[in-house]
Amino acid sequence: MTAEIISIGTELLLGHIINTNTAFLSQKLAEAGIDVYHTSVVGDNPKRLVESLKQALARADIIITTGGLGPTVDDITIETIAKFFGRKLVRNKMVVKCLRDYFKLRGTKILSATMRQAYTPEGVKCIRNNVGTAPGLLIDHNKKLVVCLPGPPRELNPMFENAILPRLRKMSKAAWVIKSRTIKISGGAESQVNKAVKKLLELKPPTTVGIYAKLGHVELRIMTKAKNEKLAQAAIDRIEKKVRAKLGGYIFGADDETLEGAVAGLLAGKKMTIAAAESCTGGLLSDRLTNISGSSRYFVMGLVAYSNSVKENVLGVSKYTLRDHGAVSEEVALEMAKRIRSLGGTDIGIGITGIAGPKGGTKKKPVGLVYIALVLPRKKVVKEFRFKGSRDEIKFLSTQVALDLIRKNI
Ligand code: ATP
Ligand code: MG
Repeated sequence: MTAEIISIGTELLLGHIINTNTAFLSQKLAEAGIDVYHTSVVGDNPKRLVESLKQALARADIIITTGGLGPTVDDITIETIAKFFGRKLVRNKMVVKCLRDYFKLRGTKILSATMRQAYTPEGVKCIRNNVGTAPGLLIDHNKKLVVCLPGPPRELNPMFENAILPRLRKMSKAAWVIKSRTIKISGGAESQVNKAVKKLLELKPPTTVGIYAKLGHVELRIMTKAKNEKLAQAAIDRIEKKVRAKLGGYIFGADDETLEGAVAGLLAGKKMTIAAAESCTGGLLSDRLTNISGSSRYFVMGLVAYSNSVKENVLGVSKYTLRDHGAVSEEVALEMAKRIRSLGGTDIGIGITGIAGPKGGTKKKPVGLVYIALVLPRKKVVKEFRFKGSRDEIKFLSTQVALDLIRKNI
């Protein structure tokens, strides 16, 4: 069974947005054992959409369109589909109710343009949109299935996974499934990772392992193709066990898990609190630590001590330390961590100071030089890092190693 994806939207053709919907759908279809041989992008143009539909219907069993389901004039999918399949647009009671509920919940009035979305091609099955207003459509046509999904990923993703994918799985009776698992490993350990998993990287299908260097961490992706979910999962588990046995402490998470999430889990589990004094990262560490729901359990305060006067007068770093060693130094990082820990009354204090660039570096203190200090009840750690990259990258990498320092030391 094959599927073809047609992404609709002139903004995609112009490169104004990236086609993440096709990536998402392709991945999910592959996992379900449904082959995708073609994907295409077409602008908000009825004539060209019809051409794409014809072509797709001639060569695939399932056609999935994304975008153009909304109420504005450039949203042409519904009318084009209705014309193409010779169906009238009729008012759909389920969609009317969904729209009423949607606006009632938000306490706003329904615009008549929005009500246009309640008119869908006669005889098609509408899929409820639990996040937005445009319903999805399912059209059976000569033993083929056409699925129309809304453009915004936050609407498309749950609709596809909950309402469409189970149906496609049943239809396709695929002979195999693809499953993958991504193991996330702290940065700075690339050579150990390579050495530890060298043999695994040479594995041949159906189960393979790939290594990918990301900004500030490394990913190992285990992929397998098997007759069913259970066998696929077993193959993945077997390899994952081997990877964990070799790299245990370097691993901070898997799949959607993040480093800040791992740190949050550890802090909450140990009932420890933290405060951060940041200079070159401008609050990014505090931001990442508070991106996790429930962060008030462990995050007490963050201070962006950017200027020397704030480092001295607000944070309380000694003016002699600043004078003798400079703001970007081990000594200042350590005092920043100590001072913020006592200001916040926390178990852990962390201080970050460095040169994010691209200007401001000297021979002795080049761009990318960053000091990070961690002060705990019975331990203190100060480390020097020399990062390479753009300003954004250096800021991000600083928070990445800071989070990893916390993870390893608590
Ligand atoms: P809406 O009701 O929001 O208008 P729609 O189904 O009409 O939804 P579009 O108008 O085509 O969808 O796109 C709305 C937004 O969804 C786009 O501005 C873009 O942010 C996002 N989007 C659309 N298509 C894609 C895609 N292929 N990949 C990623 N994002 C997309
Ligand atoms: Mg739209």
